[in-house]
Amino acid sequence: MRPIRPGDQGPAVAEIRTVLASLELLPAEAGGDDYDAQTERAVRAFQQSRGLSVDGRVGAETWRALDAARWRFGARALYHAVPEPLTGEDVRSLQERLLEMGYDVGRADAIYGIRTSRAVAQFQREMGLKPDGSCGPHTVNALRRLGRKVVGGRPQWLRESDAIRQAGPTLIGRTVVIDPGHGGTDPGVVVPDGTLRWSEADLVHDLASRLEGRLAAAGVRVQLTRGPSPDDCLPDADRAQLANSLGADVFISLHTDGHANPEAEGVATYHYGTDNGVTSATGERLAGLVQREIVARTGLRDCRTHAKAWELLRLTRMPAVRVEVGYLTSPDDRARLVDPRFRDRVVEAIVAGVQRMYLPIERDVPTGSIDVSELRAIVAAGTVVD
Ligand SMILES: [Zn+2]
Repeated sequence: MRPIRPGDQGPAVAEIRTVLASLELLPAEAGGDDYDAQTERAVRAFQQSRGLSVDGRVGAETWRALDAARWRFGARALYHAVPEPLTGEDVRSLQERLLEMGYDVGRADAIYGIRTSRAVAQFQREMGLKPDGSCGPHTVNALRRLGRKVVGGRPQWLRESDAIRQAGPTLIGRTVVIDPGHGGTDPGVVVPDGTLRWSEADLVHDLASRLEGRLAAAGVRVQLTRGPSPDDCLPDADRAQLANSLGADVFISLHTDGHANPEAEGVATYHYGTDNGVTSATGERLAGLVQREIVARTGLRDCRTHAKAWELLRLTRMPAVRVEVGYLTSPDDRARLVDPRFRDRVVEAIVAGVQRMYLPIERDVPTGSIDVSELRAIVAAGTVVD
């Protein structure tokens, strides 16, 4: 769909303004159907609060987030609906509440799936309620009564780290899904360069293929989310579902950045998280390792790691990161990115980051020290370089 943007007018804008008013981002009596400057400011504030890209327009992802945001916890009964599960902010609130109390809902993805339903049933059983797995008024009241008494640990993330620790340091037999961003009719960032034309979609596919080769050599099963020049490409939500359906252990999305200012440059890595502090601890750790290895091995400027609630990161059920490997619009970054040897260094850095995620913290090694070409031998021998 074409994004709804400043200057637009009509019922869709009226609806957006109503939701924004219900979130107190616009005055309650706002009304109106003009996408004016006030609407744009409110949309930007909303996007910021949801960890979305802040562009002041309502595209598909922002629209879905606004639609989900209408629902405040307790305003409707929640249950596991098939085949179209209920989604919304109220579902996310419920999941975060259950997570805080130690129930296993998986990730707080705002989707009332079977795992959420089971966690609710377990909670109901322990509270002496009928364990039907639906969240009606009695369950809402029970949750409210417990109120703020139970807080603390994020059992889900601790469990995720445990699973990784118990799996041991080997990469052999693991499944990694690599997601070259964009593709098909969407080239991503495009920069003309003399008679040449560099596109993000092409460059990240090349990176993904190199990464596939390196990981396969270390005994990893690898799946890419798209080919080099597909007619059509999966949207991000479907790319996440693909990784889930494969039972992937790690998800790595590759992009390059772009900016109107040619001086913008550097590498940044994103992991799942929201601004109320919910974060994937393993995703955050993987992002940190990948980011540090890339900076150390390539010299790209360090634009650090950031938590985002993008669908790609939110819907994946395994540690997932999105790496923005340099700015294609920066002459310096671009000169490096078009050099295949540089792309090999980026890929080695990512492999080293993934390997370090599987090393117990006490056996972790200094950044830049893993020799990726020896990885297979090291891993097979069950020893770690110090
Ligand atoms: Zn991109």
